Parts: sequence; structure tokens; C-alpha cells
Amino acid sequence: MFLSFRYSFTFFFILFLLSPSNVASTSTLTPQATKIAVTNRNIQKLINAGRGTKIRGISEFKRYLHHFGYLQNRNNNTFNDEFDAPLESAIVRYQRNLGLQVNGKLDSNTVSEMITPRCGDPDSNTTPHHHNHVHKTHFTKNFVFFPGKPRWSRPMPMSLTYAFSRENMIRSLSMKEIRGAFQRAFTRWASVIPVSFVEVREFEFADIKIGFYNGEHGDGEPFDGVLGVLAHSFSPEIGRLHLDAAETWSVDFVSTVSEVAVDLESVATHEIGHLLGLSHSSVKEAVMYPSLRPRGKRADLNIDDIRGVQSLYGSNPNFRSDWSLESDISANQASQFVRPLRLASTLIITISLIHSLSS
Ligand SMILES: [Zn+2]
Ligand SMILES: [Zn+2]
Repeated sequence: MFLSFRYSFTFFFILFLLSPSNVASTSTLTPQATKIAVTNRNIQKLINAGRGTKIRGISEFKRYLHHFGYLQNRNNNTFNDEFDAPLESAIVRYQRNLGLQVNGKLDSNTVSEMITPRCGDPDSNTTPHHHNHVHKTHFTKNFVFFPGKPRWSRPMPMSLTYAFSRENMIRSLSMKEIRGAFQRAFTRWASVIPVSFVEVREFEFADIKIGFYNGEHGDGEPFDGVLGVLAHSFSPEIGRLHLDAAETWSVDFVSTVSEVAVDLESVATHEIGHLLGLSHSSVKEAVMYPSLRPRGKRADLNIDDIRGVQSLYGSNPNFRSDWSLESDISANQASQFVRPLRLASTLIITISLIHSLSS
């Protein structure tokens, strides 16, 4: 039971839990593993660091990359300060997944990405030799699924219920504000796939359970306080969406002046993507990109998000794809048929016009 619960949490747990020697490493994860402290003094040293060098603080980066699924560790979760070959290839995979320049170095863009607050779910595609491109077309697939491509398996069109935990809420926002942010987030996904979301009162019986939690909260993924990890959620069909209660959650940056304010709606939209079966994307504009700067907003679905979720659930019949979506041949079969169908109808209109003119 416990194993299958963890299994669905994503790649990280599959990689580590299935190997008995690594069970301890997941249970000894500390909140610090998700935060990196970088001072101006050591950033220059880091930029120049390459294989074979030893710099104080490198272990922090190893711990971070380990936490998000890029680096294995067989030494009971201890890391040294040596810039070794496994670290270099972990950085390469991280840079590729996050859409950064790939050079295997801790350059300023890479370090800056690592200190940006992010989702706590580990990134998929973290193993070597993955292929993230569909070669036969111009189209590059950036969206990623969880291992095994899990999705909610009910008949279409499906309806999923969601509820908020009464005990695990925050006081800084009203229930109305929280509800509104989530409603808008759910609506975005519902407008592109044949899935609707209905709020219910009974938390225990809801398909999707939403709550704000502090620190350790029972799933082995403790939250880390202000910034760092903002939220995490589980793949289908577990339906748990957890937000770090320590964040300054905001629904309006005019009234929330804090520099560490986090847009609830953007994070909610991202986490719902996980609940539906999407993992992290390397497209910076995508909702499924793992990080979000304080006071930043990224709640509108990108073409990459839409393609990803539609290849799991198909398209909402009311969804109208714009020209840019149609012009690419994508993994989404629905859009492959949009263009021929439209062309056919144009032809019929033209032919009947010629007929009426000639008669
Ligand atoms: Zn995420
Ligand atoms: Zn949790």
C-alpha cells in the first residue's frame, strides 16, 4: 500500500524506492535540500568550477540535484564538495530539462534557476540518454508525462470533484479568494479537455484534496518555509495537492506588497497539471515549467501544456485551436484532423458557390 502510494509520486520515488539500498535516503531528506544559499563571494568560484575542482558549498548543489531526481547517492545522503563527473552530467541534464544553455557548469543562469522558488515534484526525464524530440516533424515535444503515463481512467467526458481541507487552510487569504483562484485554475484545464471539475464539501470523498501544510506533513516531503519549494502534488489518480503554508500566498499583487509573495493561481494551475498527469516541461512559458519567481505570474496555458494534456485526454469539443496550434503536426491527434476538416468545409462552400453561380 505504502509502496504503491509513493510509486505514483513520480520518477524520484520509482528510482529510489525500488532500490532497497536507497530507502533510507528518501526518509532522511531535509527541508534544506530544497534550498541553496549563494553569496556574491562564492558565485564567481562556482562559475569557474569544473571537473576535479573542490569548492566549499558544492555539496549543497549535489543535495539539490539529488532531491529533484538528477543525482544518485549511495552514501547515506552525504555529499562532498568535489566537482565530479556525476555532478557534471547531472548539471547537463538539469540544464537540458530547464531549457538553459547546456555546458555542465554552474554558470550564473543555472545557479539563478536553482535559487528560484519551484515546485517540489522532482523533474522527470532526469536519466541519461532520454530523447525529448519527435524527429520526423519540426515540432519539438517538451511536455513530459509521469512514468507509465498515468491518467484518470474514467469514461469521457469525465467529472472530477475537489475539496479544500478545513483544518489545513491559511488565514492570510479569505476562503472566497482561495476558492476563486482555484476555480479559475481548474477552468483553464477544463476548457481544453473533456474533463470538468466540481467543488464538493466532503474532503475525504473528493477526487482532488487541496490543503496548505507546514513542514513535515506525513508524505515524506516536508515543506521548507518561505520560498524554496512552494507546493507539490501527486500523479493520477491520487489527487493530493499540497501547498506550503509558510508562503505569502497572493491573489492580487497590488494589495500584497511582500517581496516574497507567490501567485496562488499560477501555482494552482501548475499543480493541477500534475494531478492530471503532466510532469515538468522545459518550455519557460509553459505552466508546467517547474519554477516561478516571487511576484511572478504564469497561469495561462501554453501550447505545450495544451498539447500535453490533450494527448492524455483528447480535446474539449468546444476548444478552438488557433492557427499556430493547427500548423504544427503534434502528438495531439485531434489537431491533426482540424486542418483537413476545415479545408474540406471550405472546398464544399466554394463548390456550392460555383454551382449556384453557374446555374
Ligand atoms: Zn511541478
Ligand atoms: Zn505533501
